[in-house]
Amino acid sequence: MGAGIAGLRAAIALAEAGKVLVLAKQELTESATQYAQGGIAVALSDEDEISLHLQDTINAGDGLVNVEAAHVLVEEGPERIQELIDWGTQFDRKGTKLTFTREAAHSRDRILHAHGDSTGREIGRALYAKASSLKNISFSEFEFTAKLCLDSGRVTGVELISSGGEIHTVSSGAVLLATGGAGHVYSNTTNPAVATADGVAMAYRAGAEISDMEFVQFHPTALYVKGAPRFLLSEALRGEGAVLRNSELHRFMAKYHEAGELAPRDVVARAIAHELEVCRLKEPVVYLDLTHLKANHIRERFPRIYETCLKYNVDLTVDQVPIRPAAHYLMGGIRTDLNGRSNLHGLYAAGEAACTGVHGANRLASNSLLEGLVFGARAAGTMVKEAKHAHHASMPDAEPVRNPGAKNDVQAFIEGIQQLMWNKVGIVRSRQSLTEAIQQLQASEEELPPQTSRRNCEGRNIHTTALLIARSALARQESRGAHYRTDYPEHEDSRFKKHSIVGEKGVRFV
Ligand SMILES: Cc1cc2nc3c(=O)[nH]c(=O)nc-3n(C[C@H](O)[C@H](O)[C@H](O)COP(=O)(O)OP(=O)(O)OC[C@H]3O[C@@H](n4cnc5c(N)ncnc54)[C@H](O)[C@@H]3O)c2cc1C
Repeated sequence: MGAGIAGLRAAIALAEAGKVLVLAKQELTESATQYAQGGIAVALSDEDEISLHLQDTINAGDGLVNVEAAHVLVEEGPERIQELIDWGTQFDRKGTKLTFTREAAHSRDRILHAHGDSTGREIGRALYAKASSLKNISFSEFEFTAKLCLDSGRVTGVELISSGGEIHTVSSGAVLLATGGAGHVYSNTTNPAVATADGVAMAYRAGAEISDMEFVQFHPTALYVKGAPRFLLSEALRGEGAVLRNSELHRFMAKYHEAGELAPRDVVARAIAHELEVCRLKEPVVYLDLTHLKANHIRERFPRIYETCLKYNVDLTVDQVPIRPAAHYLMGGIRTDLNGRSNLHGLYAAGEAACTGVHGANRLASNSLLEGLVFGARAAGTMVKEAKHAHHASMPDAEPVRNPGAKNDVQAFIEGIQQLMWNKVGIVRSRQSLTEAIQQLQASEEELPPQTSRRNCEGRNIHTTALLIARSALARQESRGAHYRTDYPEHEDSRFKKHSIVGEKGVRFV
């Protein structure tokens, strides 16, 4: 499930062993992968070392990184990138040498990029070209997966829901959930519309363990212009020297962190949230300022960002760019081991939908594309070995599940949850805000839309995931990484230097 970096990379490895069906709920090109701008981190430059990439990843994760997973990421990363190059990915170069840039919390220049700021699109293009050249792989777009099918505790396939609401099933030796992130659980997000946490929600309902859901990364700098999507303004802009200014046009980051604009994302996001709170304007705003940088360089280095902003009448080279934070990346997800296995037989996960613990409490910038590549390939290798022993169950066609008492205004239902999550389970949280959110989410269970359309299924998935995030955030009585609580502003290592697993009966820490 999924045609982003994790799903495509896995499909290529799976094709060696048998037939592979890659499903995407919209166009194959509509995924977070396609929008990744800044780049992909890998220790390949002459001045870099794998051990330094490891250390930066561990530091960013704020005490919670699964060190074994991080080893796998940084050690297997170079080989996976070389493969991408062999398959035709055109990373930017100076002459024949690859060019690396730096992002926040990286101690070396190690971010490869393509066409300036279109890295994900270029990687997706090359992976799709490679995958579609393999005869064992077929693709099906606009195919919405609604549910996992289980037989004696083993995942044996999926239920798909057509645009007309009919449900049909596909059986398979193994299922990989590479369904991406959860940005649309929040009212402000950089994520594309497909990011409604479908994989996490359906895995949870099937009995899979879901881990570290309280850790949602909020990107500090998303364009904030009325009528425009919350378009991401990459960290690499600050890496190249862009600075932040408050509504009075004063720089403020030095007050919050010694690294100023290059402080970790969560620090920058909270600093901006604070500046917005104290701002006296009716429509509080903060600005990203690039006007002191060379205009030609900005246009060449960030062509896609430059053009997109221009569409909304903002010229990066002369204007102060209005920005606000937005939900960006889910560190948590379906709990997997280093080989992509969930706790359910036959179910695997990779990419943003999965939680290997590699990002801990906070993801190091540009590590997520690499994670999709490395763990997508590993999950596929395990599926090949284990699917040999699986039996293909024949499944009866499923009956649509209905909820006759429910209201049918799914858009209003979804927007209500998104606003609630932004206000109460957002950048800054407390016992009171989290308890209120959980109560409201539980009360709205009665209004869950019936499972009769794709959008209704998304509404249910957003609701399920919102509850998983809020419950996990309430249980973690400390602040760590991207999870910040005003009532517990410090680390509490003795109780919480652990991963959370959220279930029906509560949250446990392991
Ligand atoms: C604007 C933006 C910029 C980013 N920049 C960077 C960056 O520079 N570097 C970096 O490392 N990371 C970046 N990230 C994060 C990174 O892009 C993602 O974490 C990564 O691409 C996720 O890949 P994935 O394969 O797990 O999922 P995705 O690429 O999101 O793909 C998900 C796939 O699952 C499918 N799907 C979902 N639900 C269903 C369903 N119910 N049925 C069928 N199919 C379904 C979708 O159709 C899609 O094909 C960025 C993210 C965003 C949003």
